[in-house]
Amino acid sequence: QAQPSMHHDDFARIFGLETEYGVSVTGVYTPVDAGQVAMTMFQPVVRQARSTNTYLDNGARLYLDVGAHPEYATAEAICPFDALTNDLAGERIMRTMALDAQKRLRNNPATSNATIHLYKNNADSAGHSFGCHENYLVRRFIGIDAIEHILLPFLITRQIYTGAGRFDGERLLITQRASFVDETVSSATTRSRPMVNTRDEPHANPEEFRRLHVIIGDSNRSQWAILMKCATTHLVLCAMEDAARHNTLSELSAMALADPIAANHAVNEHGAYANIALANGKTLSALEIQRWFLDHANEFLSTHATAVELTLRTDPLCSPAWIAEQWEWALDMLGDNNIEALSHVVDWAAKRMFFTRLEERGSVAPARLQQLDMDYHDVANGKLYNSLCSHGYMRTFATDQQISTATHTPPAHTRAQLRGAFVREAKAANARYDCDWTQLRLLQPVRMEATMLDPFSDVPNEQVTHIMDYLEHLSGHDSVDMPV
Ligand code: ATP
Ligand code: MG
Ligand code: MG
Repeated sequence: QAQPSMHHDDFARIFGLETEYGVSVTGVYTPVDAGQVAMTMFQPVVRQARSTNTYLDNGARLYLDVGAHPEYATAEAICPFDALTNDLAGERIMRTMALDAQKRLRNNPATSNATIHLYKNNADSAGHSFGCHENYLVRRFIGIDAIEHILLPFLITRQIYTGAGRFDGERLLITQRASFVDETVSSATTRSRPMVNTRDEPHANPEEFRRLHVIIGDSNRSQWAILMKCATTHLVLCAMEDAARHNTLSELSAMALADPIAANHAVNEHGAYANIALANGKTLSALEIQRWFLDHANEFLSTHATAVELTLRTDPLCSPAWIAEQWEWALDMLGDNNIEALSHVVDWAAKRMFFTRLEERGSVAPARLQQLDMDYHDVANGKLYNSLCSHGYMRTFATDQQISTATHTPPAHTRAQLRGAFVREAKAANARYDCDWTQLRLLQPVRMEATMLDPFSDVPNEQVTHIMDYLEHLSGHDSVDMPV
């Protein structure tokens, strides 16, 4: 029995994470262009899909835009844990592609010692920045001004526990991204780098929903940080939507910032203790602003925990109580300046602890720290992060089995289920296909199309059923014709 669509549920949400990866090659005499490496990685994709843009049987999108940054965008998930496993599946898929490309490079005598680095971070050594976008389905009655005055102060100060840290040659900053963000809320992403993008592509019923596109966040290695950035943002959005329904939204804008760009830089440099000027003339620390949001989230949960729990229904771990408790714990540890405790789950703190331990044993050249910082993010050949996990230093939440399952299984209770099944069947039938978030398209042997506007529905509509029936017929046919 299919689950009923949830899109009328007050607090249901869709979560999606887009990650751009950076590539580079070492061990070669003449430099290999990053764009060339990315193309080498995508050769098998191009052979199969005849394009550098494809959708996978786990519902995710894998693509290479112009430039040298392979991107993986997770399929629609209804809870942070499903977004996490789909994102970690993306790391694995990217890693396999990189190691495969490395093998091909090594077959060429000119690059026989090549090592490919694939960085899940947001800045290369030349000072270029690339993104990790969070996508949240929000109710349309949450206006852009509420995003700016309520959500932005939360997103900027959230980095004290979600920041991935970046060694800038002299010191370890809290975030990867803050130095490169130069606007608050804008519809452009090409020239400027806003914190939140308002480009209106909801991939759902546009009268009901908007897709909030958060640009300000870092790519995280820490599984806890990935969970918590989605989960705490979810709670704040729920509290905002609830307040909007009760016409009390303006009460939540008490934390509106005097200068969001300056606040972002202050958090990047000083973390929890950064002094932040509010629009109302007061000054609070980043930590105090986070405590204010936690208090409001708790107040909201005191009457709505069950409703929120229901919307997170596949999530074994990320219950509202767990989220609030972890959030409070992190703020307490920041208040105590207990970097050691945080370093098991917070990326910047893990780097700081590791660097401090190294420096206790003797002076370390900045170039070495820079290299270790990069290594931490290298999902292809990096050592540091994996070793922190395998020694049980860094906490993990998804099992190896859950991640490998997620490389071929879409998140539950969303249209990603339908997309995943379509991709699987199309491949099995050797048919040419193409998708976007709301459409399935068969290109060959015949042209067929299906639209899925409701991201919360995993029930095939008439068009989807039609395509799937056709594909079933097609592969049934093929297997009869196959020589045994
Ligand atoms: P760009 O790469 O230029 O930023 P983009 O943000 O439009 O483009 P994609 O890279 O295609 O898009 O990623 C879209 C993300 O949005 C995916 O992670 C997807 O799961 C998620 N998503 C899809 N539908 C919805 C929805 N209705 N609400 C929120 N998120 C959605
Ligand atoms: Mg994208
Ligand atoms: Mg995007």
